[in-house]
Amino acid sequence: MDSAIYLASIFLYGLNQTLEVLLINSLIYTIIKWKTAWWKHLFNFSIYSIMIILANYLFIFSNGNVDDDIHAKNLLPYLVSLTTYFILNTILISFYFFLQQTESSIQLMRGIVKDKTFLVSYLSTLLLSIVLGILLKEDTKLGLVLFVCIAILLSVAFNEHFRLFQETLDKANKDTLTGLNNHGYFKEILQKEVDAAKASDKPLSVAILDIDDFKKYNDLYGHIQGDQLLQEFGALLQNEADSANFIVARYGGEEFAIAMPNTTRNTAYSFMNELRKKANDTYYNGVERLPYGCLSFSCGIAECEKETYSISELLNKADLAMYAVKNQGKNLVQIYNGISEYSVQHSLSLEKELEEAESQLRIFLSKDVYTYRHSKRVYQYAVDFSRRLHLSEQERKTLILGAIVHDIGKIEIPRDILNKKGKLDPHEWEIMKKHVTWGKEIISTNKKLEDLIPLVELHHERYDGKGYPYGLAGKSIPKLARILCVIDSFDAMTTERPYQKTKTFQEAIIELRECAGKQFDPQFIEPFIAMIKQLDESAVASGPTGTVLTV
Ligand code: GH3
Ligand code: MG
Ligand code: MG
Repeated sequence: MDSAIYLASIFLYGLNQTLEVLLINSLIYTIIKWKTAWWKHLFNFSIYSIMIILANYLFIFSNGNVDDDIHAKNLLPYLVSLTTYFILNTILISFYFFLQQTESSIQLMRGIVKDKTFLVSYLSTLLLSIVLGILLKEDTKLGLVLFVCIAILLSVAFNEHFRLFQETLDKANKDTLTGLNNHGYFKEILQKEVDAAKASDKPLSVAILDIDDFKKYNDLYGHIQGDQLLQEFGALLQNEADSANFIVARYGGEEFAIAMPNTTRNTAYSFMNELRKKANDTYYNGVERLPYGCLSFSCGIAECEKETYSISELLNKADLAMYAVKNQGKNLVQIYNGISEYSVQHSLSLEKELEEAESQLRIFLSKDVYTYRHSKRVYQYAVDFSRRLHLSEQERKTLILGAIVHDIGKIEIPRDILNKKGKLDPHEWEIMKKHVTWGKEIISTNKKLEDLIPLVELHHERYDGKGYPYGLAGKSIPKLARILCVIDSFDAMTTERPYQKTKTFQEAIIELRECAGKQFDPQFIEPFIAMIKQLDESAVASGPTGTVLTV
């Protein structure tokens, strides 16, 4: 509103008097708003001076007459002056927001400039200067009173307009509980940061963190206290992120994300680890009853690389690393390093899969107890043997699950063949051999067990190519199927079967060595024998083991 007074003063009294009015007004304003930083007052004074000087200059340049009256012939110079003042104001304020360099201030400015109602209210404020000039000429006292009333009313409306705009912006971008950026807005910011990092060849990392055992906290103290904890934790994150110029968001329920421009994965790791310690060391109401006795979170970090295709890929990597931490016991930070291991841990929680596989196996309990027990023993051998081999986490899990379900196809074999005492005749043997194909068909119905198909179908292939169903040889048999073949055969040799004599461990070991390179891939024989010898010794020492599935 002071702009209207300055402009009226330019038109009626000229530059010098207007600058005097500006000085007095600025001093009064500085005293009233003494808490505001001094440089902001100085900045305001400077931009007003520039606007006044240039508006005055263009008023005179466009043949405006400084006179203590308002004249219709001055209409064009008034408009030129108003426009100059308005454009300068917009440019200088934008410059201020640009210097601030925060995403929200730039967005706020952009929104304000684009908003038509802003333009209308701004121009009408400036036009008031002409009205003020006329009023002052007609009746100074009444003119001033009327103008101040209109000025106050308009400035209230103007402030309200700003407040509403800010509020709408906040609602769209902020999470209502924590006040942090929300999921959608975070992705927008991250996209811009990723583009900038790629363009300038600077590093950028992203962290995703998930509070550990938060459901338990809710169960213990209720959702309202849970909300309170989320707010307090959000404030801690905001504080830490602000001091490092990072951008933090509430990513989901009790999940948060931090975008870290100019930060390598290793620096991000140190930052997040310190934050983790800080969360552990800060007391929050009731956290002593959580498993770690404190507030903890699991965190995954991913760094943007040249070949990173999209922000979803980047976030997904951080997410996978975070899930890997959950699997390792929580309260840790981990940098993403390679997708295959995590994707298995993430999509295939072993315990769940084991339960599922075991429930499939239970069908055998009523029909063929032998196969049920055999499968469980093979499973336990697979657990032990996979620890000794240099298998990836994914291979290990596939071998273990495959060991449980490898004979699932036998469910299709008639009871009299399954339980026949003595040798099977050729026809019965042909039916028996079909269990691998039927097993494959059963497993194929469950998409989650897809990886196990080669083990189920090919565990009777032989290294020398004389096995079934395809007669594959050597390395053309998948590695895990070759390993399972050794384990499966060893258990078959050493346990009682209706159609076969039982061997002792020693006899079976001799047989394994004899068949190395024929039935079995030789590379696995000695490691397996070493394990059996060790198990044999400890079994003698500790007696029989239970049948609970353990990894
Ligand atoms: P984990 O360590 O594996 O992350 O376990 P968790 O219990 O933290 O994770 P889970 O996903 O099992 O449970 C998350 C809980 O977070 C469940 C949900 O009730 C709670 N939650 C999500 N959003 C809010 C919220 O806004 N307020 C409150 N109080 N609780 C929330
Ligand atoms: Mg959680
Ligand atoms: Mg969660």
